[in-house]
Amino acid sequence: MSDTIMSYEEVVDLAARCLKANGANDENALAVARTIARAERDGSASHGFFRLPGYVASLKSGKVNGRARPKVVRHAGSVVRIDADNGFAPLALEAGIPDLVATARESGIAAGALVNMYHFAALWPEAEKIAEAGLVGFTCTAFKPSVAPAGATAPLFGTNPMAFAWPRHNARPMVFDMATAAMARGEIMIAARDGHELPPGVGLDKNGQPTTDPSAVLEGVMLPFGGYKGSNLAMMIELLVAALIGEQFSFEAAETDNNDGGPPRGGEFLLAIDPAHMGADDSDAHAEAFFARYNAMDGTRMPGDRRYANRDAAENGINVPQSTIDKVNELMA
Ligand code: NDP
Repeated sequence: MSDTIMSYEEVVDLAARCLKANGANDENALAVARTIARAERDGSASHGFFRLPGYVASLKSGKVNGRARPKVVRHAGSVVRIDADNGFAPLALEAGIPDLVATARESGIAAGALVNMYHFAALWPEAEKIAEAGLVGFTCTAFKPSVAPAGATAPLFGTNPMAFAWPRHNARPMVFDMATAAMARGEIMIAARDGHELPPGVGLDKNGQPTTDPSAVLEGVMLPFGGYKGSNLAMMIELLVAALIGEQFSFEAAETDNNDGGPPRGGEFLLAIDPAHMGADDSDAHAEAFFARYNAMDGTRMPGDRRYANRDAAENGINVPQSTIDKVNELMA
């Protein structure tokens, strides 16, 4: 079936209409729709329209508040607490990031605690937003258990992604955004849908045996990247987004979730650091010299450059398969 070429605005409009038809108000629908459109534009296929059925399912089941009104409260000097009011994360992030940035500019560093929220997207949009304001950004979140700790064969961790962004004066921020699972669950779902085999080391089947069959991994358990090292990072993320900020660990999220196909309730931890406050002579020039050395090495490429190249190409329109548009229309029917 053929692709339809859509503008960014048309993708936002289509996704927003679908979310509104399923109970979200304008503000919430548009914030989620912008997240979907950014993912489609940047070639992050697993977080674009692919997620819409899950968003819709959680609106329809009543688990997620489609009319959420996030509240932002500044705590303890440089902590910004964002209560998403049981809504999806994007509107709460739009509400909270300006305060996080302002607090970091004032104090040098600000920590963000996003709670009562449902995150079903990539993390680079929020990390990139912080870096676009000239600050170093870090963020992470958890999900429901699907990843076994190193040595185990049963899940305890979510795929627990984290994103880090470095601001650059004369270029777009350097941003990496990665799951601590060997592969993001959305990518495994796409491999299963498209009949592709996985590389070794991504997961175990339901009997705890290594497999490269994506459907068997989805029934079994995923593995962290890098063995115990990825496992320890996943543990760090669980602690930051649950115990530290008063939200649910992945295993607790699974216990309270209604399994409607959308995301579980959880937390997101954010950090913003203003280089101007750190006492370095010129962190920007110093970092640029480092990037120059990095980029001069054969085989390297900057994290984020694949997305930026897709973003540039999307100036001429975003390719959306007709089958995807048909599915979105079905969700509105
Ligand atoms: P990838 O493994 O595809 O990429 C991870 C990062 O590494 C990206 O920033 C990518 O940049 C960069 N990268 C890739 N290749 C290279 C290279 N050769 N040199 C340097 N950098 C490179 O991502 P994942 O599959 O781990 O994660 C996919 C997405 O899933 C993330 O956006 C994550 O936030 C999201 N996710 C969300 C969850 C949630 O609960 N909300 C749960 C789990 C994952 P580039 O983008 O430019 O390729």
